[in-house]
This record gives sequence, C-alpha cells and structure tokens, in this order.
Amino acid sequence: MHCPFCGADDTRVIDSRLVANGDQIRRRRECASCKDRFTTFEVAELLMPRVIKRDDSRQPFDEQKLRAGMNRALQKRPVSVEAVEAAISAIKRELQSTGEREIAALAVGEKVMHQLLKLDDIAFIRFASVYRSFQDLSEFRAELDRLEQEIEPGNSLLK
Ligand SMILES: [Zn+2]
Repeated sequence: MHCPFCGADDTRVIDSRLVANGDQIRRRRECASCKDRFTTFEVAELLMPRVIKRDDSRQPFDEQKLRAGMNRALQKRPVSVEAVEAAISAIKRELQSTGEREIAALAVGEKVMHQLLKLDDIAFIRFASVYRSFQDLSEFRAELDRLEQEIEPGNSLLK
C-alpha cells in the first residue's frame, strides 16, 4: 500500500489487532521511506441479500435503516453502542450466511426482534408492537412465547 504522506510504494505493517468484537482488523503501517506511520482498517465486504418488501418490490439491504429502527426502540434504554453494533453485525452475518440472494423483509424483522429480546425487554416490546401491529395482548403474548422458545426453550419473560 502506498504511503499517504510521501507516496512511496513500500509500507510495512508493524502491528495488527482485532477491533469491534473481531469484525475489523486495525493495522499500523510504517513507510519505509519517510518513516511516517498511519492506520488502516480492514472489514469483510459481505454480499447482503436484497430485501423483498410487502408490496413485492426489492430493495438493497439498508444497514442505516436497520440501525435507526433499533435505536428508536432502544431510546433511553441502558444498552451500549457496542452492544447494538454487535447485534447489527450478528444480524448481517445471519442474513449473509443464509446464502439467499433475496430475503423477505419479515424475516429481517424477525432477526431484529431476536437480537432486541437479548438486549433489552422494553426495546423488544417497542419494536415488536410497531412491527407486528398486534391487535391485542394475547396475540402479543403468543408471539413473545414463540420467540422465547426459539431462543431459550423452556424459558419465559412473562412467568
Ligand atoms: Zn512515506
């Protein structure tokens, strides 16, 4: 990689470490010519499936929108930015590992609900109630039970 200071061809890596929960590699590099140092970040470029909306239209996966939706649900809740970013990475990994080229928006929403349920009960309820537009409490309770059985069989929030 070229040196950003003097443009020399030859720079070498003097330190590499995993950051952001292992999703990024930070490298310190040194120019062989001017000896200046700089940092690069390496992230995997994941090919995300396209999202099939309710009206059957296809849209590119939008990470910013996902983050905004989760942050809205997590507003004023005691959850760190790190934990939210880790949840978003997990969702992206899951979507990518399906190997599908298209995925229903509903399935993406399910994954978000799974992650929110692990992060914060209130955020989960906020997200789920908007997302699912439940008609009444019993419908909501049934959905909650279903999700919990998937995550941790034999465990329930409402017990
Ligand atoms: Zn240089």
